[in-house]
Amino acid sequence: MCAGMQTASTALMPIPGHIDPVPVPRAGVAREDGRVDLVGLSRDELREALLAAGMEPKQAKLRAKQIWHWIYNRGATDFAAMTDIAKAQHPWLAERFVIGRPEVVEAQVSTDGTRKWLLRGAGGTDGSQDYEMVFIPDADRGTLCVSSQVGCTLNCRFCHTGTMRLVRNLTAQEIVGQVMLARDALGEWPSQPEGRMLTNIVMMGMGEPLYNFDNVRDALKVVMDGDGLALSKRRITLSTSGVVPMMARAGAEIGVNLAVSLHAVTKEIRDEIVPINRKYGIEELLQACADYPGANNARRITFEYVMLKDKNDRDEDARELVRLIRKYRLPAKVNLIPFNPWPGAPYDTSTPERVRRFSEIIFEAGISAPVRTPRGRDIDAACGQLKTAAEKKSRAELDRLAEEKLAALG
Ligand code: SAH
Ligand code: SF4
Repeated sequence: MCAGMQTASTALMPIPGHIDPVPVPRAGVAREDGRVDLVGLSRDELREALLAAGMEPKQAKLRAKQIWHWIYNRGATDFAAMTDIAKAQHPWLAERFVIGRPEVVEAQVSTDGTRKWLLRGAGGTDGSQDYEMVFIPDADRGTLCVSSQVGCTLNCRFCHTGTMRLVRNLTAQEIVGQVMLARDALGEWPSQPEGRMLTNIVMMGMGEPLYNFDNVRDALKVVMDGDGLALSKRRITLSTSGVVPMMARAGAEIGVNLAVSLHAVTKEIRDEIVPINRKYGIEELLQACADYPGANNARRITFEYVMLKDKNDRDEDARELVRLIRKYRLPAKVNLIPFNPWPGAPYDTSTPERVRRFSEIIFEAGISAPVRTPRGRDIDAACGQLKTAAEKKSRAELDRLAEEKLAALG
């Protein structure tokens, strides 16, 4: 495994998306050795990288095609393995380029087969650049939960990621790098569409993917490319807390399945637990869902609903949820998530009986509402509730942080 190769040439990468007035302080740190990491570049960008290094155009076209194949179908990380490229050219490539992987700080496997990785962005020896990735195997599929940012600019009250002060967009390369690393670890090279363990991707790790739109889009395009990793858009789900102005673009430019972190059905409660609601309210959000291209009965929108004791788990909340889904005629399913507590969290988990009753009310209305089974509890790996350094913050500190982040939202 190569280490510390997670940055790209800023000349070739799009600048991380500054969407809306959200502060996203830093892009990735450039590689110290000046080499360009080819992972996460589009086919055109890969060719341009070769051209920029001085390769002549006709050759660059052919080499880009060959290198793309080696990277995404064979999992090669070494130019010397590229047998259809003249041996004499291997050192020339290796001097200028790398095929990197995120640096792994820690890898854990749960008794139920769930795997979790702690990954490190360049220059983050103090752990401030760490982000996580989780693989969850099921009987009929294997889902990789991918991070889009280090930390998150939003501050949902029940989410540990929201308490991290430092926020950085992951580059397209770091996002694709997560998938490459998972393939390495699962031993899934060369890439074959049949019999893979890694079949699905959810953008439900750290961060808000629609606040890092360009990089998430570019990365997912690489992941979906039919001549490479070839994951179908039907097997990829992007989860958003409700960045309404970016949802139409996500549908048009990425086209993957949509999951929305609803978590509450009244303004009062959603304002409290998902503060972005103060900017884009429930009705606006549901209208954006109704307008989401490609959503239909075969491809439903998932509404995530974290069950918080005595906060959002009453019968009338479930009934209101049904009413709203019907009002907007949404092809929807509801994913009930038992709250995963963390030190200092201001909420408790709803009782199993409460969760069951809530689920029943929605099911009785003809809407699917399964309860997500916690996975990888022994390694603390449940997707969407990733945490790093479990520093304990007081309720007052959490409130202050929420206000700070909200003020930054404008
Ligand atoms: N920022 C995006 C995607 C990452 S969070 C979003 O909010 O949708 C992925 C999912 O995990 C979200 O539904 C989120 O609300 C949920 N989640 C976060 N912390 C959790 C916790 N402690 N317990 C249960 N679910 C949690
Ligand atoms: Fe950010 Fe999603 Fe966590 Fe909210 S739930 S703080 S949007 S990662």
